[in-house]
Amino acid sequence: MLMDTHAHINFDSFDADREDMLARAKAAGVERIICIGMQPQGGREALALARRYPGQVYASVGCHPYDAALLDDACLAEFEALLREPQCVLMGEMGIDTVKAGVPLEVQERAFERQLELAVALNKPVCIHSREAFTHVERVITRVCPRGYRGFAHCFSDGAAEARRWRELGFLVSFAGQVTFKNAQSLRDAARTLTPDDVVLETDCPFLAPMPHRGKRNEPAYTRLTAQCLADLWGLSLEEVARRTTANAARMLGLECRT
Ligand SMILES: [Zn+2]
Repeated sequence: MLMDTHAHINFDSFDADREDMLARAKAAGVERIICIGMQPQGGREALALARRYPGQVYASVGCHPYDAALLDDACLAEFEALLREPQCVLMGEMGIDTVKAGVPLEVQERAFERQLELAVALNKPVCIHSREAFTHVERVITRVCPRGYRGFAHCFSDGAAEARRWRELGFLVSFAGQVTFKNAQSLRDAARTLTPDDVVLETDCPFLAPMPHRGKRNEPAYTRLTAQCLADLWGLSLEEVARRTTANAARMLGLECRT
C-alpha cells in the first residue's frame, strides 16, 4: 500500500473527475491520501472530503508561507477547531519560502512559529514547507518543538546535507515527482543518502507531475511513479519501498495501516 501524504485534491482542477481520480489512486495501490487544506476554507474542504471518503482521504489544515500575512488569532482559532476533528490528522503546510512567497521573512517566521506552537499544544504532526530556507526553518523547529517531534519535510528539494539534518531532527523527508525529473540529479543524490525508513511519498498534486506526465495535471495515482524511481535508486522492490514508507507515514500520523 502506498500513501500520498500531500495532495491538494480539494482544488477545482479535480472537480470534473474527483471520483475517477480516487478510483485510479486505489487501483494504483495508493490507498491513503492526505488532503492539504490551505487557510480555514481549504481545511473545511479537506475535512468534507475526508468525511465523504472515510479511510481513503484524511485532512490537514494550515497557513502556507505565501499566505503568512493572513495568519491572525481568528485564523488560528479556526485551525484549532478543525484540528480537533478526528479526520484532521496533520497540521500544515506551514513553513518558510525564500524563493517565491513575496512575504517578509520575519512575517513568515512568526506565522510558522505560531502554527508550530498550536500543533505542539494539540499534539498534531506537522507538514513543513521549506524552500531554500532550511536554516530558518530549522531554527524555528528547534525553538518550538520538543526533541523528536513528528513531522515531515514536504516536497524536499535541498541536498544531501539538509536531508541528513532533517533525519537528525527526527523528521521524515518527503519526495514528490521532481525526483523523477531528468535534471534532478542532486535530489536523487540526496535520496541515495537516505533509506526508505527516513522517507514518505507525496504528489503535491495538481502540481509537479512525475515523469512521464511532467507538465500535466498530477494526481495521487502517480505516487507509484515516484516510489518506483526511489526503488530503482535504492535497488529495492516497489513493494518494499511502499511498505516501509507507508509504515513511516502511518506511524507519524497515528493511522492504522496494514502495509
Ligand atoms: Zn502543497
